[in-house]
Amino acid sequence: APVLAVVGRPNVGKSTLVNRLIGRRQAVVEDIPGVTRDRIAYDAQWTGRRFTVVDTGGWEPDAKDRAARIAAQAEIATQTADAILFVVDGRVGATDVDEAAVKMLRRSGKPVLLVANKADDDRVEADLAGLWGLGLGEPFPVSALHGRNSGDLLDKILSILPEPPAIIEEAPRGPRRVALVGRPNVGKSSLLNKLSKEDRALVDDVAGTTVDPVDSLVEIDGEIWQLVDTAGLRRRVGQASGTEYYASLRTSAAIEAAEVVIVLFEASEVISEQDQRLLSMVTEAGRALVMAFNKWDLVDDDRRYYLEKEVERELKRIPWAQRVNISALTGRAVDKLAPAMRIALNSWEQRIPTGQLNQFITALSQANPHPVRSGKQPKILFATQAGVCPPKFVLFTSGNLDAGYVRYVERRLREDFGFPGSPIQVTVKARK
Ligand code: GDP
Repeated sequence: APVLAVVGRPNVGKSTLVNRLIGRRQAVVEDIPGVTRDRIAYDAQWTGRRFTVVDTGGWEPDAKDRAARIAAQAEIATQTADAILFVVDGRVGATDVDEAAVKMLRRSGKPVLLVANKADDDRVEADLAGLWGLGLGEPFPVSALHGRNSGDLLDKILSILPEPPAIIEEAPRGPRRVALVGRPNVGKSSLLNKLSKEDRALVDDVAGTTVDPVDSLVEIDGEIWQLVDTAGLRRRVGQASGTEYYASLRTSAAIEAAEVVIVLFEASEVISEQDQRLLSMVTEAGRALVMAFNKWDLVDDDRRYYLEKEVERELKRIPWAQRVNISALTGRAVDKLAPAMRIALNSWEQRIPTGQLNQFITALSQANPHPVRSGKQPKILFATQAGVCPPKFVLFTSGNLDAGYVRYVERRLREDFGFPGSPIQVTVKARK
């Protein structure tokens, strides 16, 4: 969602205004200048459009004096936001401090809207002419406290933010797309057969969906799933099915086409390099993942013990994946696949509210700040979730973060929010 930064001197009513914009009744306001609020970014929605509001009052630049502090806010805002609300106290008018900040905002070329807050009545509103001198055009009078003009302000904000993305109404969705991958002879065709037989009939047609001719619709656990590239799986081993190169192209196309991928392993053999490559393909493509250890019927107690150890060792880079021990031959635990896929897809589509995400970031930064590097300590200013499928997070920071610290943030995100079965992506946008 596009980002709107709210900038202004302490005590002009930024937090009250932010609360008004995000539609929260209970204003959380610290009326003490310079007090750091712990939550700084929020989701807002107006007439079906979504945006993120960032309250720069929550930042604590190192600067001591007010002028430097607001300058730092303005600078950060110009580098991280798509548009800026510059808030002044309509009863006080513009100050020198305001003028310095405005200069910086205007240089950025970003759209800036001048808001005269505390315009509680017509009398204050009539007195705003002096604010034209800031060079930001007509001041927009509001009373954040009473809500006066706040609807009009929201309309105006939408007009300066970049075009949607509008809220995408959930389209009636066809069946979820599943790919079944694994090295030759691991049991893909057998599993497909198992899934297509018994109570799980192959389905020819689902109203309103078109299915690629190489795909199949299969009912698993009361739900219709689209198995992608089943034509490739039906071809029996030993028949001329092309080169290994061709097979791997086919596999990566199937992964791309899928939403969730079941990677089959030989439970009675070691995890091979080829298995690892498949896993990397899935995580790099950003697909939800279920690991299935097939031929479990051949696994004896000794092997079971070693397998545990091996899985721990070999698969420790993806501890979040769902794991199921199955037998395509006997049908053991095959019914566990659908629930595992559902969990993985839920995580894949999970969205963390911006307020909650930033509470998490603030707590994390306080408990375990980034190490100081050559005299500087980069800080995470705020975070947003830029997308789903899989969840993608963007950290807006005051400087580059160590790769290790980014991994730490990712690990902590998982600890707090889970995402079982789905990769997540964390990227950093550092202020220059
Ligand atoms: P694909 O190449 O991955 O499609 O593997 P296939 O489905 O053709 O299976 C290869 C061989 O493994 C066949 O002989 C299957 O009967 C056998 N197989 C598949 N799944 C199992 C299983 O769960 N247990 C046992 N014991 N054998 C299996």
